[in-house]
Amino acid sequence: MAKEAKQYRWVCPECCGFKLASSRPKKIATVRFCLPCSEATGLLVERGCPKLDKSRETKAERDKVRRERAVATKRKTKKKARAKREETAEEKWHYGGYDLRAEATRLLKIARGEGYPCKKPSMTANWRHKGGYATGRSWGGKVHLTIPKGSPAAPALVLLAHELAHEAAPGHHGFEWRWLFSTLVNKGYGVTVEYKGGCSSRDLHKAAIQAVAAKLNEELTDAQLEADEEGA
Ligand SMILES: [Zn+2]
Ligand SMILES: [Zn+2]
Repeated sequence: MAKEAKQYRWVCPECCGFKLASSRPKKIATVRFCLPCSEATGLLVERGCPKLDKSRETKAERDKVRRERAVATKRKTKKKARAKREETAEEKWHYGGYDLRAEATRLLKIARGEGYPCKKPSMTANWRHKGGYATGRSWGGKVHLTIPKGSPAAPALVLLAHELAHEAAPGHHGFEWRWLFSTLVNKGYGVTVEYKGGCSSRDLHKAAIQAVAAKLNEELTDAQLEADEEGA
């Protein structure tokens, strides 16, 4: 047997008389109209269903609240994502309490004092996701640093000095670069890295990281002492 449809009171606004009917009687069903009142007024008097009106109202309210909440949540998620992005972008410059941008200004001042004036390059930084070493590149006014997230300061600082020395000194890893690089590291971080003849730029880079790490009391892994040719 088919389940009987739920019955609602359809009430006349004039006489308050009612009849029971389903929630959706046909448009022309007589239950929608109060016939005695229609007869009396000469116009069709429509019955209403207060119960359904009310639940429709509460549903509309509920939907509105839901919509507003969804909008608020979306806004909050977006805001959080933006804050996170900004924080990440900022974090990429900070290693062991040093801000590489401020260090660049300081190191370039030292270079200038040594007779190597150099405009501050436009610098970008990113995290290295594979391998524990830091690498960099410099090409005519631009420096890009790739450093593992959470790296100790020494490899990051030495890398910065390495790339800035490229910016300021002519000749790739030649005498002038070696001299300026070790001078920046020595004067910048109070160490004594000596440029010995015959030592490769890679070995010099490694020696500089070791010296700065010792000065800053940082214990480094073998990987953190390395730099591939990009940065060496
Ligand atoms: Zn009526
Ligand atoms: Zn280099």
